[in-house]
Amino acid sequence: MWKNSSASWVAEQALSLLERYPLCDSCLGRCFAKLGYGHLNSERGRSIKLSLILEIDRKIKEHQLPDLEGIREVLFNMGGAGESLFSHYFGKGFQRRACYLCNDVLAQVKEDFVAKALSILRTSPMRYVLGVRLSPRMQELETNFAVGNGLMYYESMKAEIRREVGKKLSQLGFEPDMDNPEGELVYDLDTRSVEVIRKNQKVLYLYTRLSRGVPISSWYSRGGDSLDREIGNKIIIPFTEPSDVRILEPYPLIIEDYHEERKEVMGYSLVKVSSLGKSEFNLLVENKPLSRTYRVIFYSTEKKGHEIYDGIQDMLVEARNFDELMEKIKEMNVEIISVDLIRTEGKHRRIRALLTKTE
Ligand SMILES: [Zn+2]
Repeated sequence: MWKNSSASWVAEQALSLLERYPLCDSCLGRCFAKLGYGHLNSERGRSIKLSLILEIDRKIKEHQLPDLEGIREVLFNMGGAGESLFSHYFGKGFQRRACYLCNDVLAQVKEDFVAKALSILRTSPMRYVLGVRLSPRMQELETNFAVGNGLMYYESMKAEIRREVGKKLSQLGFEPDMDNPEGELVYDLDTRSVEVIRKNQKVLYLYTRLSRGVPISSWYSRGGDSLDREIGNKIIIPFTEPSDVRILEPYPLIIEDYHEERKEVMGYSLVKVSSLGKSEFNLLVENKPLSRTYRVIFYSTEKKGHEIYDGIQDMLVEARNFDELMEKIKEMNVEIISVDLIRTEGKHRRIRALLTKTE
């Protein structure tokens, strides 16, 4: 259609798209988003459509278009922008077509995202970034469209939504913080809801350990198994016992950005309690047990504890910590078989009770 004309590359590309796809102003403009600065994609799309309409009208007036049928399709695919030229030449019968890419929801989605993000940020202010989740179907449609049409100046729908919503929120006094966000506000296009995903959120778990020899941190595992290798998230340990000691009283463990309700792994049994604020975190880390009760199973030819079987005996021993326990046992001059932690005393018990709202 533009043969022998001085039409621009952008106009040619845009026309070729509009011959095949209905596109709203934003989605057409987004195909050329990386050209020109300081404009909205909807402005880009609208002005491309207007310049095409002027050119189409000129050609009709100069009788350069023998076939007007192709023009009808292009005008339908332009949406509202094509309607008046259509009715001028063809009368009634303009077809409204939904945008091939966004199904005409983009403007509404941005408005909705702004409103929902705003209400979240007003009730719980945080340093945030924005995220967008498309359905797999929509994502695939968009990728095929951009790649299949070789659109090298294309910007993704997600990027446009993030950018424009972020700009709007900044104008309202809530500027996104790309460098150090506490959370991500993720808009889901399917459910039209905003999910808050906290970054570096500290979550308190209580664990017991019925295995021996599997440490929490891979620092101590000499290349073998460890809990943090298994979980793959950052674990903060307020206090623990050597890996050969079974832990029968629930001990606290803080895991960043981990949200499983329950986890049974390698003899560890983890139960999620709650996420931790800064002061709760500090309280937990600062308050270690003052004393611990261990059950020690040992062998001795002399009777020193409670006999289990032929010289094998057990005994409850109280100590400040495992090192002190070892000193005490050394004095007893027995052969240790195993050690379990049974119970602890100290302020941490009250903190734990407060956080779990039990006991
Ligand atoms: Zn669209």
